[in-house]
Amino acid sequence: MKTSYFYKNPKTILNKGTGFLSDYSHSLNPYTGCSFGCSYCYVRQMPVAAFRKEEWGTWVDIKKEAADVLRKELARAKRKGKVTIFMSSSTDPYQPVEYKERVTRSLLEAMADDPPDFLFVQTRSPLVRRDIDLLLQLKDKVRVSMTVETDREDMRKIFTPDAPPIPARLKTLQLLADAGVPVQATVAPVLPSSEHFPELLKSLVDRVCVDDYFMGDGSGGKRTRQLGIQSMYEKLGLGEWYGPTAYRKVYDELRKVFPEGRVYLSQEGFAP
Ligand code: SF4
Repeated sequence: MKTSYFYKNPKTILNKGTGFLSDYSHSLNPYTGCSFGCSYCYVRQMPVAAFRKEEWGTWVDIKKEAADVLRKELARAKRKGKVTIFMSSSTDPYQPVEYKERVTRSLLEAMADDPPDFLFVQTRSPLVRRDIDLLLQLKDKVRVSMTVETDREDMRKIFTPDAPPIPARLKTLQLLADAGVPVQATVAPVLPSSEHFPELLKSLVDRVCVDDYFMGDGSGGKRTRQLGIQSMYEKLGLGEWYGPTAYRKVYDELRKVFPEGRVYLSQEGFAP
């Protein structure tokens, strides 16, 4: 998918944590739009995308001088109370344009200088490994959550062909964990996976979160239904993997191999 890039100068960059992110004081998006363009991404139905003519995944706004704006907003927010930040709620902070633009890295530099009480970094990109030096400066005030929806590359290629390969994400989780960065694997949404998936994750991380379209799309599954995702499962003859209880296929197996209390479900797995 070809992506068009636009430069913007936002006046603000920290948004209030609401809804699914109400455990956080703020959310932080280095970009608007996301070139990974996952088929199931419900952000395409939110106002940020719904008012654009171009298809979701084909455009990205790059927030220029974002770190300067953040430094000011962060200092102001910290004077008012506890600051917990979710990065990012409607884009991937380590999508390909970040290699060149380094907006996310500049935001991390600002947060390393003036740390928030907690930062949650949500990505599915191996590029996060570039910033291990800054993540380590945040010590236990950070957690990197790597999306790993499945261990099956054939499924990843069908549902999210422009996102990074699964083996690269697993390798990155291992690198981060070995470096001492707090991490979790996040199985969200639940795509069809192999029976070896739980053991594979256990060999890499000590914490995992499972979320699905019904708990995690902010509308009880309505947004996902409008995207026609169910028919993708049915065409593959894997309809049993789609439904409000299908997550248990993975969740129950993970609970068998992970220690008590280390398998989180939906919102609790993203909390500060
Ligand atoms: S990486 Fe996240 S924000 Fe980007 S398209 Fe996929 S689900 Fe949406």
